[in-house]
Amino acid sequence: SVPLSFFGGIGGASKQGILVKGSNYLEALAKTETVVFDKTGTLTKGTFQVTAVHPDRISKGELLELAAMAESYSEHPISRSLREAYQKPVDASRVTDVEEISGHGVRAKVDGHDVYAGNGKWMDRIGASWRNCHRTGTVVHVAVDGEYAGHIVISDAVKPDAAAAIEALKREGVKKTVMLTGDVKAVGEAVAREIGIDEVHAELLPGDKVDQVERLLKNTSGKGKLAFVGDGINDAPVLSRADIGIAMGGLGSDAAIEAADIVLMDDKPSKLAVAVRISRKTLRIVR
Ligand code: ADP
Ligand code: MG
Repeated sequence: SVPLSFFGGIGGASKQGILVKGSNYLEALAKTETVVFDKTGTLTKGTFQVTAVHPDRISKGELLELAAMAESYSEHPISRSLREAYQKPVDASRVTDVEEISGHGVRAKVDGHDVYAGNGKWMDRIGASWRNCHRTGTVVHVAVDGEYAGHIVISDAVKPDAAAAIEALKREGVKKTVMLTGDVKAVGEAVAREIGIDEVHAELLPGDKVDQVERLLKNTSGKGKLAFVGDGINDAPVLSRADIGIAMGGLGSDAAIEAADIVLMDDKPSKLAVAVRISRKTLRIVR
């Protein structure tokens, strides 16, 4: 049977907007040694803003329109920012054959033309020669009918409590913090440096994130546990692989909330440190 104080711990957590799906997760959380974070939407706001538009062969307005159109069916934070920058409602009747390839980007037919929007890997896959961008930010490249059409730079900001959350986790005894991202190295490293993350791995596909978690699980000592925290867009497999899968409840997808063991309702990374503190207190009472 579950000791009574566990109910106290789960109840105390829920008052803080931390949903714990079972007493076993509270117990595991108290033994957390490694915390692995997804970047976008978890440590960063996930609300990107377009900061530059660099077209090739076409106008800025045309480039933005093509990207917004191609991305019109996507729920990715990147696509939302492109639609916002476009400022007009997208005429859905002009967009067909939409496909989203996780960790790469999207493809769609816009007015009958094949439009691809995504990262350098995505451009490589279709054989479009793309230009590198000197600016720091996440770059969305666009190709039309196999020809490069330019790129759009968007940037995201770290959440205001992210650095404090990492510090608080260290105080609660967490030995290692890791960030995994599908974003480019320069962006990943800048974010990790800004908030004090120990280890960063960039340019990962969703499957690579699972591999990284497998590797980190092997390196976690004896009773130590590994927690993974993600906003859930493409993260369900990683959430279920970790000892403790934690999803952001606000931005997160339904699939992620379903796959998670713990849900942070207000999307604040600092709530994870609160959860660890509650779990440690609860376990001390139980013992
Ligand atoms: P993260 O690991 O930071 O959460 P994702 O795995 O969601 O990022 O995406 C990784 C990368 O794939 C993004 O940085 C972007 O370059 C590209 N990408 C993914 N989805 C899209 C999309 N809808 N439009 C454009 N690019 C995308
Ligand atoms: Mg993500």
